[in-house]
Amino acid sequence: MDRVIETDVIVAGLGAVGAAIAYQLSRRGVDFVGIDRWAPPHESGSSHGQSRITREFVGEGPEYVPLVRRSHEIWADLEAKGHRLRERTGLLYLARKGGMARRHGAEDFIRATLQASVAASGRELPELDARALRRDYPQFRVADDTVGYLEPEAGFVRPEMCIAAQLAEVAEPARALVFGETITGLAHDGRGVRVSTDKAQYRASKVVLAMGAWLPAFVGGAFREKLQVLRQVQYWFRLDDPARWAGPRAPAFLWFHGDADADVFYGFPPIDGAASVKVATEQYVTTCDPDSCERRVSEAEAAAMFETHVRGQLQGVSRELVAATTCFYTFNTEGPAKGRFMIGPHPTTPGVTVVSACSGHGFKHSAGLGEAVVQQLLGEPSAFDLTLFAP
Ligand SMILES: Cc1cc2nc3c(=O)[nH]c(=O)nc-3n(C[C@H](O)[C@H](O)[C@H](O)COP(=O)(O)OP(=O)(O)OC[C@H]3O[C@@H](n4cnc5c(N)ncnc54)[C@H](O)[C@@H]3O)c2cc1C
Repeated sequence: MDRVIETDVIVAGLGAVGAAIAYQLSRRGVDFVGIDRWAPPHESGSSHGQSRITREFVGEGPEYVPLVRRSHEIWADLEAKGHRLRERTGLLYLARKGGMARRHGAEDFIRATLQASVAASGRELPELDARALRRDYPQFRVADDTVGYLEPEAGFVRPEMCIAAQLAEVAEPARALVFGETITGLAHDGRGVRVSTDKAQYRASKVVLAMGAWLPAFVGGAFREKLQVLRQVQYWFRLDDPARWAGPRAPAFLWFHGDADADVFYGFPPIDGAASVKVATEQYVTTCDPDSCERRVSEAEAAAMFETHVRGQLQGVSRELVAATTCFYTFNTEGPAKGRFMIGPHPTTPGVTVVSACSGHGFKHSAGLGEAVVQQLLGEPSAFDLTLFAP
């Protein structure tokens, strides 16, 4: 334990954000060590479950658009090397005409998305009425007052594969990436930032903490005060009428089907020929500690998900649960910054940058954000201003 491993940059946590940072450091030939308590991609944090929606018409705010666009470019470069990361299935937004659509801090997410479409493409997405929706999408059970908007270039990315691809591209991974070590402490010792794990000691002039749901407790200060860790569940229900889902139009979807905040869910078409669909909703009530949180998904939870969201809205989907997994949002609860990322200096330790890019919508931005963080660390010019997300 006495030997201190010296490096230039330490990346703590190698999930969506940490893997992106590690990849960008490696591309620039920076001497760094990336550390994770598990072996990413894994199923214990915020980045698992086969699919994450990605879209360039970003209802959470125009400031995110350069990030997702850059992520798409980075993932396209990785796909050119043989990785399979992004599926352009389209994303269908569904809502009740004139209804409420509160989400991720936006008061009217549908309106914000339509405004984003104007900003990005010069025109609003065309509105589809119930008749058009029934004709084109037999997998959905739409009410007469349902309206839809298709963002054609949106779809989903494969989160585990994005993480694996970026880590696989890290040069000399045996040296730079350390799996199975838990970071236990952090201090500036006069010569640099000393990072302690349960197995070793490291020192660097710069440290980035990208520890996902474990950040608030580890960092403290504003990060503990403002960020809540929320348990979420992803469900896969078996198809009993796969033909309905096999048509030419099989988009991912985001559906506001009632006026209450909880009347929203989203889902994905069957992936790679699966006989099931993945659906999920969001909850902002019950916080948890990621180390002691209930990971098991109960039959009652699955039944409630089916009754509340699936049964009334989806066709050809049975109540048989094929799989379910828990996952964490690290959610910014701070007034006007509600639902935003939180990125900034560590409250007490100089040389340390803290990156919380979740609030339920961070994956699509992670590759571009990793690059922006590295540009900031190295003093490179950057197209992106991270102070937008200062705590
Ligand atoms: C159910 C669900 C659905 C989502 N849907 C979408 C979506 O459709 N679109 C979208 O864009 N985003 C979505 N998100 C958000 C997105 O997945 C997150 O923003 C993103 O995964 C966060 O990545 P992260 O790197 O911060 O955390 P993680 O990927 O969890 O990485 C944190 C890493 O830190 C490591 N770590 C923690 N503590 C320590 C320690 N002490 N020592 C060493 N290592 C440590 C962990 O092992 C982990 O690997 C969703 C999130 C959830 C949970």
